[in-house]
Amino acid sequence: MSEFQRTLVTAALPYANGPIHLGHLAGVYVPADIYVRFKRLHGDEVLFICGSDEHGVPITLAAEKEGITPKQLVDRNYTMMKESFEKLGVLFDNYSQTSRPIHHETSQAFFLDLYEQGILKRKTTLQFYSERAQRFLPDRYVEGTCPYCGAEGARGDQCEACGSQMEPDKLIEPHSVVDGTPVGLKESDHWFLPMGDMQPYLQQWIEGHENWRENVLNYCRGWFERGLGDRAVTRDLDWGVPVPLPDHDGKVLYVWFEAPIGYISATREWAQRQGDPEMWRRWWQDEGTRLIHFIGKDNIVFHALLFPAMLHAHSEPYVLPDNVPANEFLNLEGRKLSTSRGYAVWLPEYLERFEPDSLRYCLARNLPESRDTNFTWDDFQARHNNELADVIGNFVNRTVTFVTRYFDGKVPPRGELNDNDRQALAAIEEAAERSREQMESFQLRAAAETLLLMSKRANQYFDEEQPWSTRKSDMARCGTTLYVCSQFLRAFAGLWAMILPFSMQKLWDALNLDEELWQHGWVRGDWMLSEGHPIGNPGILFTKIDDERIEAEKKRLEAVLEA
Ligand SMILES: [Zn+2]
Repeated sequence: MSEFQRTLVTAALPYANGPIHLGHLAGVYVPADIYVRFKRLHGDEVLFICGSDEHGVPITLAAEKEGITPKQLVDRNYTMMKESFEKLGVLFDNYSQTSRPIHHETSQAFFLDLYEQGILKRKTTLQFYSERAQRFLPDRYVEGTCPYCGAEGARGDQCEACGSQMEPDKLIEPHSVVDGTPVGLKESDHWFLPMGDMQPYLQQWIEGHENWRENVLNYCRGWFERGLGDRAVTRDLDWGVPVPLPDHDGKVLYVWFEAPIGYISATREWAQRQGDPEMWRRWWQDEGTRLIHFIGKDNIVFHALLFPAMLHAHSEPYVLPDNVPANEFLNLEGRKLSTSRGYAVWLPEYLERFEPDSLRYCLARNLPESRDTNFTWDDFQARHNNELADVIGNFVNRTVTFVTRYFDGKVPPRGELNDNDRQALAAIEEAAERSREQMESFQLRAAAETLLLMSKRANQYFDEEQPWSTRKSDMARCGTTLYVCSQFLRAFAGLWAMILPFSMQKLWDALNLDEELWQHGWVRGDWMLSEGHPIGNPGILFTKIDDERIEAEKKRLEAVLEA
């Protein structure tokens, strides 16, 4: 920890072929944002980088279907995705696009560096070729009969029916999905990254990271056992980053190769905007940087093996990831999400109907950190109503009401503390410390639970001290109770902010705390509110969600299943 001066956090580049859904959010964006906010609350220097992954065949296929250009498609989706991230409070320092010139330039330079060092291998391969269209066809543009199970409509790269990977020369009667005409095979030269040569280095490097999540380590070990092979970094396609070599027309860099370089291009773009174009090097080439990749488990191979291999192979001294906290998957009402069937909860639609904090909270309490987890609308409602409204909202409301009515809207004087007062104040410090340790070891779900327990403790304290009764019998005691309760409010505003930024901003403002400090409001040092500090009313922070709205959501999903 201490040897690092700054933290660079990346969130997996979402593929720009459709809106963000709950699976993406639980796997990557909500945990990444919570972690970044946590670091900021601590006053640590942190940079949060992301962007749209905009090349590759699914984009060109989708654009052709709509009759628009790939660039039109990705620009439209970029705007939509960026907007919904912002509305959910996922605040990147830069959200870029891989179709921008700065990314083309950066990834071409990266390719050339490896090429000029003689690291890349040239090989002749067989690719699908359409005589009629006079061009190579990417494997997803080709269908045929599966040689293994006999299913028709097997794709050029994979048979969906039996799951077999396909070699181009194995597919029976291949034809183009664009015009149905037969497709042949033609030789094409491509460049490969020799991952096998890099395996000993990678193996040693991975084994030096015992603190990584078990799923990530096991996944990498599985790859090592099977042995890493050469991996193509170029392919025949028009839409992408052109290969920067003579006689390579119609060839682009493979998305797996250029997309992660997008983190670097997005950092360069950010540095340019800061008016200091070379500043990106501080974040990528200085040993004081701790690099963290937040990803879903389907991205482990790229972020734990391939991208580190590329960074290591580059002639300049890039930092390698210090951790790759990959999450498992989130299921929806007990079933796998399916974007092709539309079985998902889409973020833009969610945001039209519910508050951003409710979703951030529900996902934080249910993150698929070590195993797949399940999102249900009943659970969403229960967590919102029973935890956000009844625990956090209720405590804020009863404390603010008392302070306003009986103490002139100011933190009452601290009288003599009894054991319960001292234990309650200690519980805040303990929760702050425990949740900090949990966050630092990427146990975000546990950290959320720690904060919930602290909030329950606050209500319990209020009930035990019975200020509604001491108000009549012992005003000084009542004041001391509300003094302690006010410190809980201050702790809520500081600690919950990483998960509930919208509602805690309201509380922060109502507590008349320094706006400048909002981003660094962690509970530590002399964090406590002093006697006489004015407390305003934040209003109702969480309005309960009734059954009707939940039933409507469940019906929407059932309709998708029946369609
Ligand atoms: Zn098959």
